[in-house]
Amino acid sequence: MVVALSHDRLALRRDAMRWQRPIRLAILVAIVGLAVLFGTEDRARTAPMALGIAVAYAALVLFGASAAGREAARGARWPAIQVSADLLAVAGLVWSAGDPSEAALMLVPALLVVQLGAYYHGRSLGIWCAGLATVAYVLVARVLPAWMPGPRESMRHTVLTAAMFARVSVVLIVAHAGFRARMDRLRLFCRLVEEGDLAPTVHVGADRRPDDLTLLAQSFDAMRTRLAEQIGTDPLTLCLNRRALETRLRTEWRQAKRRGTTVAVLAIDIDHFKQINDTRGHPVGDVVLQEIAGIFKSTARDTDAVARLGGDEFVVVLPDTGWQGALTFAERMRRKVEDFAFGADTGAIRLTISVGVALARGTDPISPDVLLQEADRSLYKAKSGGRNRIFA
Ligand code: GH3
Ligand code: MG
Repeated sequence: MVVALSHDRLALRRDAMRWQRPIRLAILVAIVGLAVLFGTEDRARTAPMALGIAVAYAALVLFGASAAGREAARGARWPAIQVSADLLAVAGLVWSAGDPSEAALMLVPALLVVQLGAYYHGRSLGIWCAGLATVAYVLVARVLPAWMPGPRESMRHTVLTAAMFARVSVVLIVAHAGFRARMDRLRLFCRLVEEGDLAPTVHVGADRRPDDLTLLAQSFDAMRTRLAEQIGTDPLTLCLNRRALETRLRTEWRQAKRRGTTVAVLAIDIDHFKQINDTRGHPVGDVVLQEIAGIFKSTARDTDAVARLGGDEFVVVLPDTGWQGALTFAERMRRKVEDFAFGADTGAIRLTISVGVALARGTDPISPDVLLQEADRSLYKAKSGGRNRIFA
C-alpha cells in the first residue's frame, strides 16, 4: 500500500513539474523583461551572458518536462535538478544583468523555489533549495568578480539579508513540509478505509498546531467511525457482522503475531432455534436473538469481539487468551444461557447453545480464516455430540 501511495505521489510530482513549466517560463520572461527595462546602461556587456543563461534555462525547462516522466519511474532526481537550475538561473541573471549592489534581489524568486520544493517534494528538497540559494547569493554578492561595474553591497547587508532569508526559509520549510507529511498520513488513512480497514492504525485529526487540514482530517475520521458503525454492525443485535468480524480477526491476528500471543475463537449456535420461530413466531425469535447477544456481550471483556454471522450463529474472538481461559469463558456462557429465561414478556423460553473452540498462536503458520473454520468444525462436533456442550 505504501508503494501504491508513493507511486501516486510520483505521478503527482510529474504532473506538478508539467504544469509548473509555463509558470517557470513566464517568470523567466518577466525577469528578462525587467532586466531589459531596468537593467544597467551597459547593455552590450550584459546581453550576451544574460541571454545565454536565459536560453539555457528555457531549454532545460522544456527538456525537463519530458525527462521528468522517465525520471519519475527511476526515482525522481529530476525535481532536484530543476529547482537547482531555477536558483542558479536567477542568480546568474542577477549577477550578469544587475547592479552589483542588488544581489539580494535574487532571494525573492528563491523564496518561491524554496516553497515549491518543500511543498511538492518534501523537507530535504526545501532545505537543499534554501542552502543553495544562500550560497548562490553570497557568491554573487561577495565572492564572484562583479560582472557589471559599480559598488557592491556591504558585508553587513549580505549577512543580515542571508540571515533573514534563512529564517523565512525555515518557516516555509517547516510549514509546507509538515503539511505534506500530514497530507501523506491522511492519504494513507483514506487508502486504508478504501481497502475496507475501518479501524485504521493511522491516527489523524490530532495535530500539535491545528489548522484547516486538522478539521478536514477530523471530518474524515468521523465519517470513518460512522461508516464502520453502519457497515460493520448487525442491525438486529448490534453485534459485529461478518465483515467487521473478519477485519477484527485479522487485526487481532497481526497483534498476536507481533506479541507471540494466542487468539481463541468460539463458534456458537443456538440449539433447535427454529422451533422457537415455529412455535412463538419470528418476532419472538428476534427478541431471543437480542437477549442472547446481550448475554454474550456482557460475558465478554471490552477487548473481546462478539459477532453475529447470520441466523442463530455467533462468533466470539478472545485475544491473548489460552485454552484454559477460552474453555472457562465458553462454559460460563453456556451456563448463563441455560439459566436465562428468554422472551420474558411473552413467556419464559429455555434455550441451550453449542460451542466450538479453536485456538492458535499468532506465529502459527495458518491464516485467521483457518482458525474460524476450525472453530466451526468443533461446533459441528458439539452439535453431533448431543448439543448443549463445548467441543475443543
Ligand atoms: P440446530 O440445533 O441444529 O442449530 O437447530 P436449529 O433449529 O437452530 O437450526 P439452525 O441453526 O440451522 O436454524 C437457524 C434458524 O434461525 C433458521 C431460521 O428460521 C432462524 N433465523 C435465521 N435468521 C433469523 C432472524 O433474523 N430472526 C429470527 N427470528 N430467526 C432467524
Ligand atoms: Mg441453531
